[in-house]
Amino acid sequence: MSADKDAMTTSANDLVLDLPGVIFQFHRRQDGHMHFSYLEGGGRALATLDRRQLAIDAGGLLEQLTGEHYPSIMAALERSERWQIPLATRFRLTFPDASPYWIAISAKPTLTDGGCLWRGMMVDISDQVAEEQRLRKLCDTDPLTGLPNRRKLMMYLTHQASLSARHATPLAIMMLDIDHFKQFNDRWGHLQGDQVLRRLAKHTQRSFRCEDMVARLGGEEFVVVLPLTTLDQSVALADRLRHSVASCDFGTGQGEVTLSIGLAEYRAGETLERFIDRADQALYGAKGTGRDRVSTTP
Ligand code: GH3
Ligand code: MG
Ligand code: MG
Repeated sequence: MSADKDAMTTSANDLVLDLPGVIFQFHRRQDGHMHFSYLEGGGRALATLDRRQLAIDAGGLLEQLTGEHYPSIMAALERSERWQIPLATRFRLTFPDASPYWIAISAKPTLTDGGCLWRGMMVDISDQVAEEQRLRKLCDTDPLTGLPNRRKLMMYLTHQASLSARHATPLAIMMLDIDHFKQFNDRWGHLQGDQVLRRLAKHTQRSFRCEDMVARLGGEEFVVVLPLTTLDQSVALADRLRHSVASCDFGTGQGEVTLSIGLAEYRAGETLERFIDRADQALYGAKGTGRDRVSTTP
């Protein structure tokens, strides 16, 4: 009987050590002190953790390892304790000289005399998160140029327009279109045309700050979002880009590629469709008055 019990205990321990994650008991006192009263399991992340420290005082180490995610973990603990709802969140663990781990945590809270006790598990979801990030990038990226696509552009523009409206800060967009690109393809071939699109994408991205998003709208049309930029400032930037492109050799000789550029500054409250349409009208104006020029909306 007792031998059977021993065998069961041993195999249960082996099982815990073999888990691809950890099971734990975690206590937070009302004064904020936190510790893991139980922490066992397997998986790559646990091998790197200082379990003795976590058993005595987990706060400092947790803050150091979770970095920018620490406040959101604390907020999730707070909600779970206050409303006695399960804790379910994910966070990143960062160790020096190693790639970070993504961890999913799921635990049930119980109120104790001096605070709250959680019992639950943590699982390493790094591979799953890497796959999610790869798919998200695929959804947001134009495959030819590697630039953000229309979907990503609209998300960024929505965010920037709301910042601009809230803080009364300027926001401009630049719509670029290659002149006579159909003729270019006819003359040099489609593959050379693709090469121009890729090189122009790189050239344009290098010409702006990192908070200015350069996106491919489709075909030979690109948009640059310029936060904290007025219409007058964007005219100077657009002219600089237009000149640099006209003097660049994209593989078929200098001056073979020129741009028409339309500009608009955001008016608080207008729809994004209207904002983009005004830049498009300005571009149409630049095309109509001879191409290789910059035009603004009235
Ligand atoms: P405009 O000065 O009025 O803009 O003339 P355009 O010839 O540039 O404009 P149009 O809209 O008539 O033609 C756009 C051309 O862009 C047609 C198409 O062959 C080319 N194009 C669109 N997407 C791609 C692409 O991915 N690769 C290549 N090589 N060409 C493309
Ligand atoms: Mg076009
Ligand atoms: Mg064109």
